[in-house]
Amino acid sequence: MRVIAAKPRHRNESTLAIIFGGRYLGPVTDPIAPKPALKVRLATPRGFCAGVDRAIQIVERALEKYGSPVYVRHEIVHNRHVVERLKNLGAVFVEELDECPTDRPVVFSAHGVPKAVPAEAQRRQLFYLDATCPLVSKVHVEAERHFSAGRQIVLIGHAGHPEVEGTMGQLPEGAVTLIETPDDAARFQPSDPGNLAYVTQTTLSLDDTAEIIGILKRRFPGLPDPHKEDICYATTNRQEAVKRIAADSELVLVIGSPNSSNSVRLVEVARRAGAKVARLIDDAQAVDWSWFEGVSTVGITAGASAPEPLIEALVAAIAARFDAEVVEDSGAHETVTFKLPRVLAET
Ligand code: SF4
Repeated sequence: MRVIAAKPRHRNESTLAIIFGGRYLGPVTDPIAPKPALKVRLATPRGFCAGVDRAIQIVERALEKYGSPVYVRHEIVHNRHVVERLKNLGAVFVEELDECPTDRPVVFSAHGVPKAVPAEAQRRQLFYLDATCPLVSKVHVEAERHFSAGRQIVLIGHAGHPEVEGTMGQLPEGAVTLIETPDDAARFQPSDPGNLAYVTQTTLSLDDTAEIIGILKRRFPGLPDPHKEDICYATTNRQEAVKRIAADSELVLVIGSPNSSNSVRLVEVARRAGAKVARLIDDAQAVDWSWFEGVSTVGITAGASAPEPLIEALVAAIAARFDAEVVEDSGAHETVTFKLPRVLAET
């Protein structure tokens, strides 16, 4: 570690900086200088949802019951810290089933898988555990119901996301048309406009999706809504919570990994709701403290796959530099839980 003379990044920062391993760790703080005041607004609810919690428990319980390694097809949830912790416990993450040996359990991720995946697991006589979130499975069932009724199905979602691949893969190729944008909705030419149905990815922006559905409904007035909203309770609650804190925050920090759809949506929602700046960060180490220049209120939230200790560490890092007044938002109280697969619940 070394201390160098540096340009202050904040008005109350020292002109000396601590450098460790070539990385700027922060200013040398003067213990008698007053810390600048900062209001911290914590969104509620934030972080883990019931589907993520269940998926992680499935891997943990499988490791306890069957020992390591346990194979996991795709990141169990889209969070680097969660994946690293499970790797350290003995999980092996792979992208395809052919990377799994036949004598070890394999877990399918929370995002869901195309039907071909369990079919292939059965063919190879693999022992598998399905950690697909029950709210994603609900969308799969809906899509199948529409298909059985002979409807042409539109899936609103993002190409390449594993959940979209899983939902499209419930049905034969060509049965589902993916719509990603309002332009796609405006251009869509169904073969039978009077016999359409739509489902959505569970982690979309509520406002963007409403816009796309609005276009489809104007063009195809009989288009029915799903029995129950496909965008899940956790996505809805987190977007509403970030809207409440964003309007009076100059900076909003969303903890989550870049491949986490719902976390990326929270950044977009915060910007639209009035945050001057909104950034996605993996953890407190990713903060550039110059972002706080001129900021009097910072909003903090976390995507549905981000663990609460990452938020606690960020608040602690802020409190070390600022005279922080932390105000917790009073949002929806979530009580949703999902059962584990029976074979693990019995352990
Ligand atoms: Fe399930 Fe929603 Fe969580 Fe995805 S974000 S795992 S759909 S509860």
